[in-house]
Amino acid sequence: MAEQFEVVVIGAGAAGMFCAAQAGQLGRRVLLLDNGKKPGRKILMSGGGRCNFTNLYIEPAAYLSQNPHFCKSALARYTQWDFIDLVQRHGIAWHEKTLGQLFCDDSAQQIVDLLLAECRLGQVTLRLRSEVLSVTRHNGGFLLTLPQGDIFTPALVVATGGLSMPGLGATPFGYRLAQQFGLDVIPTRAALVPVTLHKPLLDPLAALAGVAVPAIVSAEEGTRFRENVLFTHRGLSGPAILQISSFWQTGEFLTIDLLPDVALPDVLREETAAHPNQSLKNTLAKLLPRRLVECWYQLHDIPDISLKQLTPRHIAQWVSPLQQWRVQPNGTEGYRTAEVTQGGVDTRGLSSKTLACNAVPGLYFIGEVVDVIGWLGGYNFQWAWSSAWACAQALARG
Ligand SMILES: Cc1cc2nc3c(=O)[nH]c(=O)nc-3n(C[C@H](O)[C@H](O)[C@H](O)COP(=O)(O)OP(=O)(O)OC[C@H]3O[C@@H](n4cnc5c(N)ncnc54)[C@H](O)[C@@H]3O)c2cc1C
Repeated sequence: MAEQFEVVVIGAGAAGMFCAAQAGQLGRRVLLLDNGKKPGRKILMSGGGRCNFTNLYIEPAAYLSQNPHFCKSALARYTQWDFIDLVQRHGIAWHEKTLGQLFCDDSAQQIVDLLLAECRLGQVTLRLRSEVLSVTRHNGGFLLTLPQGDIFTPALVVATGGLSMPGLGATPFGYRLAQQFGLDVIPTRAALVPVTLHKPLLDPLAALAGVAVPAIVSAEEGTRFRENVLFTHRGLSGPAILQISSFWQTGEFLTIDLLPDVALPDVLREETAAHPNQSLKNTLAKLLPRRLVECWYQLHDIPDISLKQLTPRHIAQWVSPLQQWRVQPNGTEGYRTAEVTQGGVDTRGLSSKTLACNAVPGLYFIGEVVDVIGWLGGYNFQWAWSSAWACAQALARG
């Protein structure tokens, strides 16, 4: 005889833990399963160990999906203020770092502890090292096969996340399950991820690894982000690049303004009037890290030249491109370093109010496994909390 639970949640990540806790507290007998040794492994890694758990400026426009309206209902019903309130009730000190991004003062472990405490309140049974191998339809419910034995449930929540960071337990299980039950899966790809560069561009930039500069980065479709760009041994990273990676398509160019606040013609005019014999290189080094200027010289084969020798043609060739640097990445670092997976379970098969599968009663998909991703900066955890909460309310109604 298979063991029975009123609700089974697969995946003890952000979405699965929060959903299990809420459903348990609303009176359901819940089993939470995860294939790993620890719950909330991505939470522990997140925000440099301090977990950027939400953002003050959550809004649907900061999310990407084939159906941009899908996230609206869940985000409106369980908001960033609700989660901030929960964090405060647990006595966790937090701060805003930048752009509304909220981090724990101490450690991401506090968010995992919060979720575990909420699960205890809901009397959730948590089983780790429990990989769900398969699911079949059985007596109007679901029969789950695990190495430890079979489990039956009338309500199954799939919170298995995306493909990013396979070392942290990511599996394509949720996508396969969706397909097995007739749902479409939007093709997946790594997002919030560093981009890589072709060798001819990478080599001259090698000396810049570790250098970060404020910039505005634009994708061909028009989206732009103003944050830091970080040069790496493989290409470009930093928040501006991670953000734009979600909007960049293979073969396209990124346009980078390396001097976003500088009125270059004015600066050159003033500098030329004040120091006509100053080299262009030293002038640019007042505006940008010297190492970057050296690489720029190498990249564009710029001779030593003083400001008084500078012609409009030189400016157009060598200086103006600093504000419109066109870079064609040859790819991304992929799932190995991506923060999220774009694509996933097609929202057309799900209810935006309950996250239930329209065609299969009792089956739910929440969190990152669904075709919804957010910007960098706490937006993805908020989607996990909001979608989990919406699902838990539906589970409580039975
Ligand atoms: C390094 C890193 C840093 C990040 N930092 C932030 C941040 O600061 N702020 C932010 O908003 N977002 C951040 N993110 C994104 C965020 O972590 C995810 O969007 C979020 O964790 C998704 O939650 P989830 O519960 O849907 O999936 P996950 O957290 O991925 O959880 C899914 C769980 O399901 C388990 N699982 C998979 N298959 C099976 C199976 N067959 N049987 C049993 N269990 C299974 C997995 O082991 C995993 O524990 C970061 C991501 C990474 C990788």
